[in-house]
Parts: sequence; structure tokens; C-alpha cells
Amino acid sequence: MKNFNFYAPTEMFFGKGEIKNLPNLISRYGKNVLLCYGGGSIKRNGIYDSIHKLLKDCTIIELSGIEPNPRIETVERGIKLCREHNIDVVLAAGGGSTIDCAKVVAAGVCYEGDAWNIVTNPSKIKAALPLVTILTLAATGSEMDPYAVISNMKTNEKIGTESQYILPKASILDPEYLYTVPKYQTAAGTADIMSHVIENYFSTEIDTFVQDKISEGLLEACIKYCPVALEDPENYEARANLMWASSLALNGLTGCGKNQAWSCHPIEHELSAFYDITHGVGLAIITPRWMRYILNDKTVDKFVQYGENVFHIQNTGDKFTVANEAIDKTEQFFKDCKIPMTLKELNIDETHFEKMAEDAVKFGGLQYAYVPLNKNDVINILKESL
Ligand code: NAP
Ligand code: FE
Repeated sequence: MKNFNFYAPTEMFFGKGEIKNLPNLISRYGKNVLLCYGGGSIKRNGIYDSIHKLLKDCTIIELSGIEPNPRIETVERGIKLCREHNIDVVLAAGGGSTIDCAKVVAAGVCYEGDAWNIVTNPSKIKAALPLVTILTLAATGSEMDPYAVISNMKTNEKIGTESQYILPKASILDPEYLYTVPKYQTAAGTADIMSHVIENYFSTEIDTFVQDKISEGLLEACIKYCPVALEDPENYEARANLMWASSLALNGLTGCGKNQAWSCHPIEHELSAFYDITHGVGLAIITPRWMRYILNDKTVDKFVQYGENVFHIQNTGDKFTVANEAIDKTEQFFKDCKIPMTLKELNIDETHFEKMAEDAVKFGGLQYAYVPLNKNDVINILKESL
């Protein structure tokens, strides 16, 4: 196990009615609040009204219309609002897109130059306004992590930045807020949670028993509860377990002591950057294809561990049979959740594969992945995903 520093200081308020803590939380930082939200789901499910009621003594300025796969232009709009209105604290109410956008707004206010610079070069983030989040979708883990992913559709770039300064100070997680999440987003969100776990689970370190067991538990939770939430959207137990799995999958717990060079996310970010697709759907399509692509004599034992402990496959002696069954079950699980499982279904063809693969390897991370991937490997995985 590698040496590591585990730092997850976000205060988590979890459960029914925990939004009651909002006035107290906000008052720690001031009275001028930038409320960030997306296309209006918080207006339809009552969260917006609750926020306004609870913060009646605050001045609330709104950054609305944050798009799924949030754009740099929206970040810039938020920074401008913060400066014009002397904002003390940023409040994000939504899924990963809203929270990610709010994070870069919070950091951008404290940065003089072009906001895109702090996306492409995280070391430029030296401070940020305090951020509080109200999570409405179980997926990204943004509610408890130091990452934010922003898109620049003009240049077909989707880039993740990372800084301790943008870690939320506190997050409110009420599983009842997930009751209105559409089936498609419930399934895609679960695929994202699973991918965060899988990216760290398949790692060259073989002595991380604790992290592996936590990971297997989180994967089992997703496999058990996503179908329940799809069938019965107001099932509290299912929503609560998926919500907590979202946070634990990417707060550092499953990745500590490991190499943490990911494989599927860099490839998916290219799909989103070119085609603006739902992140979790792209991951569900790529993951089983990537698994088949990297299965070999060196990796087969890890796949057997995955098959036995996550899908409870009986090991009859042939490692590759177990490994392949585990991969098939992963793909079948996403299919059963009604996720479109081919790029064709998303109207994506080979047109941009060369450029996408070039950009995916550009940042260098893929060469350190569990099984190192070059441009050709990425093209092959994308072709397998058609
Ligand atoms: P999202 O893009 O935030 O939201 C997807 C859709 O779900 C939106 O249309 C949203 O509607 C709707 N929605 C959210 N909560 C809802 C609710 N309670 N009821 C009804 N509809 C609801 O989805 P996400 O998967 O959470 O975030 C995806 C983004 O996060 C991508 O850009 C991805 O790359 C990034 N990401 C970040 C991290 C990280 O660590 N920071 C990790 C992985 C991925 P409204 O807009 O109307 O609210
Ligand atoms: Fe993700």
C-alpha cells in the first residue's frame, strides 16, 4: 500500500429534513448568498422554496440554468454575479453539474485572470469562497470531493480540475430529494458511482484489502439498490444507500494507498466534450468494453476477485471463465437498468475518434493506468463501444 494523506473535511448532514441546518451553516460565512442551480428541477420539487424560506434573512442572488456538463461561460456568469453583489458564500442545490460549476465560481472569484486557466491549471487556485451544497442526485461524489469538471464546447474540451480550496464546507443529503430523479438519471448516476469505485479498484496494488472490501461493498450497494429505486422511486432505503454510496465512492476512501490513474473517465470526458452526452451513460458503455480489452494473464486475478466478491460467481477453476462472466454481468446490469449500451444509440460514429483519442492521452494519465493505454488502445475501445 502506498503512503497517503486522507483529508475529507466536508461536514455531512444526512437524512430526512436535514435542510433545517441551512440557516446555521450559511450564517457562519455571511448574509450574501449566490444560489446556484440547474434547469429548474429544484423549483418543481420544492427545494427552491424551502431554501428561500429558510434563508429569508439573507440576500439571495441566483445563478440559474447551469447545464448538465456545465460550461465555462456559466462559470464566468457566476463569477461576475459574485463580484457585483459582494457574495459571502456559494450555495449549490443540484447534481454534480451544479456543484462543479459552483466550485469553479467560488474559486474564480478569488482569481484575477481568465476562469478557464483554473480549470486547465489547478495550481492557480489559491483561495475560494466557502461552498455549501444541497445534493439532489446520487452520482458524482462532488458533494464531498475536491474535483470539478467544466466543458468548453467551443474547443470540444471537458476538463477536470482539483483543489482542496473547492471542497464543500458542508453538504446536505436528504434521500427524499432523490424521489423526483428520472429513471435515466438514476441509472446513469449509479453507473457513475460504480465507475468511480471500479477506476480505483482495478489497480496494481494488491495489498489494499481494506480499500477493496469497502469498494466491493459500495458496488454491491449499487447493484442491490439501483433496481429498487428504478422500480419504486420513493423507496427511502434504496435512495439513502445510493446517496451515501455516491459520497463514499469519491471522497478519497477507496483510492487511498493506490495509484489512482484512471482509465474510463478520461475516455468518457472526450465523448461528453464532443457530443454533450450524459456522463454516467458514457461510462456504462465504455466500462465493460475497457474491461474486456485489458483482460489478460496479469489482470485476470483481479477480475476473479471482482466476480467472486461483487457478483458472487462460483469459481469452478477456470479463471478466465469467471472473469468473463463478471464482465458480462457488469454489462447486463447496465442493460437491465435501461442504459443505452452502444455509442450508435447516442448517434455517435467514428468521425472524431482520432481526435478524441489524441486528446484523451494528451494529459498523460492513461500511460499510468492499471493497464497503460495509448492512442490506439483508446480508438480500439471506442470502436468496441459502437
Ligand atoms: P447533473 O448533470 O447535475 O444533472 C442531470 C439532470 O438531472 C439535470 O437535468 C437535472 O435537472 C436533473 N436532476 C438533478 N437532480 C434532480 C432531482 N432531484 N429531480 C429531478 N431531476 C433532477 O448530473 P450528475 O450526474 O450529478 O453530474 C454530471 C456532471 O458531473 C458531469 O459534468 C460529470 O462530468 C461531472 N462529474 C463530476 C465529478 C466530480 O467529482 N466533481 C465526478 C464525476 C462526474 P436540473 O438541471 O433541472 O436540476
Ligand atoms: Fe464520474
